[in-house]
Amino acid sequence: MKEYKIVVLGNGGVGKSALTLQFVQGVFTPHYDATIEDSYRKLSKIEAENARLEILDTAGTEQFSGMRETYYKSAHGFILVFSLEDKSTFEDLKLTYENIARIRGKDVPLILVGNKSDLIGTRQIDQQFVEDHARTLNIPYFETSAKLNQNVAQIFEECAILILKRGGVK
Ligand code: GDP
Ligand code: MG
Repeated sequence: MKEYKIVVLGNGGVGKSALTLQFVQGVFTPHYDATIEDSYRKLSKIEAENARLEILDTAGTEQFSGMRETYYKSAHGFILVFSLEDKSTFEDLKLTYENIARIRGKDVPLILVGNKSDLIGTRQIDQQFVEDHARTLNIPYFETSAKLNQNVAQIFEECAILILKRGGVK
């Protein structure tokens, strides 16, 4: 069975754990410990083939120091998450993206995710703006709600499909 190693990155509070746990366990966990970094496995079907997704839900801010760099070198693909209600979390992903591109090159499988799409009243970021930006970088963009389970499985599956297409797994 093919195994896809996916790393979930983004600022604290954007919903990395909520997305991961919604996908893996099918529940919304509103108060998950922000300091926990753990990996999860989920069986799935990718392009009609049984597959195992190994997902690393990261925590902390020093994303490119020490141990983490090892994960980034061995990961097959990345999911970059920001919160639609906090523009700075989108801005901060630029550095994350540059670091990944530096270590892994520009065609590393990567998905951009704006989470908390259910919070309509406090939204700070325009969908069209991010879509245009993502298109110029050739990065697929999704808006999700971990809370309402909208587009959640899609981001993990699309990441795996991208990995498969770019020859990241055998
Ligand atoms: P992490 O630090 O990136 O792992 O973020 P968490 O998954 O711990 O989520 C941070 C906070 O945002 C928690 O209070 C969650 O309940 C909340 N949250 C996460 N995803 C969503 C979402 O899709 N919608 C809403 N309304 N809240 C969310
Ligand atoms: Mg977390």
